[in-house]
Amino acid sequence: VDVSQFNATLVDRQDITDSLFIIKIKPDFDIPDFLPGQYVALGLFPEQPRVAHALAEREECKPGKLIKRTYSIGSSPHQKEAIEFYIALVNDGCFTPRLLAIQPGDRLWMAQKITGTFSLEGVSPEKNLIFVATGTGLAPFIAMLRTPSIWDSPMRHVTLLHGVRFPQDLAYAEELRALEKQQPNFSYFSTVSRADSSWQGKKGYIQNFFTDKLLTPDLERDHIFLCGNPGMVEEVERLLTLSGFSVHSKRNPGNLHLEKYW
Ligand SMILES: Cc1cc2nc3c(=O)[nH]c(=O)nc-3n(C[C@H](O)[C@H](O)[C@H](O)COP(=O)(O)OP(=O)(O)OC[C@H]3O[C@@H](n4cnc5c(N)ncnc54)[C@H](O)[C@@H]3O)c2cc1C
Repeated sequence: VDVSQFNATLVDRQDITDSLFIIKIKPDFDIPDFLPGQYVALGLFPEQPRVAHALAEREECKPGKLIKRTYSIGSSPHQKEAIEFYIALVNDGCFTPRLLAIQPGDRLWMAQKITGTFSLEGVSPEKNLIFVATGTGLAPFIAMLRTPSIWDSPMRHVTLLHGVRFPQDLAYAEELRALEKQQPNFSYFSTVSRADSSWQGKKGYIQNFFTDKLLTPDLERDHIFLCGNPGMVEEVERLLTLSGFSVHSKRNPGNLHLEKYW
């Protein structure tokens, strides 16, 4: 392990479940300016230990070479002390079983360049926002909601939908409920796909918010952001493009913004 390549320190970790983690990383360099919603790469070596409850690796990782993966930033760019991430353990993955084996004080690699087009840049402040996340796809929306400029227009309403498998996977729920109390223009909904009978909240897939018409997006008024599981992103994209939404890209600005995690 060539530790001279490491340029950042894990400063905090909070285990939400045994496969969901909020971590904070402090790079040796000043945190560059970035837009809420953007991502950065982290890296560790294949020779480093994996968490005990991980499974055998699906693919062997190349020895001696940093394994690099990209992660959406969950903290606001105003937070200059450390960068926060919300990360799921992929049991048979290359990187996450190693990342989740490290502890506060341990070193790792972080890219100096923060990038990505999944952001509010170019979205007029009067437009309403509908954020749709599965699992750790919540991270970029946390960064956006923690950055006060999202409320630059008093006209704007922001709706956040979070879909998870189990109730205990609803990270950030307390923060989001507190924001809902404090900010009348913010609504937070969650749905759980594998709940048992003790779960009092909404059950099922996040797509149901659209198919059951619990939410009726407006072409003129709303910008919609989808992030996380590619199955969800593609399914909701299909539904919304049928009703006239157009997928955003740098070249062709639209009102439907997509970020697929795999
Ligand atoms: C722009 C972007 C931003 C991302 N941001 C995040 C983030 O904020 N948090 C995060 O946890 N991941 C995020 N990812 C996914 C991340 O880059 C890795 O793919 C993931 O951590 C798995 O790495 P691995 O080496 O352990 O698994 P690999 O050995 O690379 O195996 C990849 C496989 O793991 C599965 N997988 C990948 N990501 C997830 C996930 N989040 N939950 C469940 N299964 C998954 C898929 O089946 C995928 O094919 C992001 C990906 C992209 C492209």
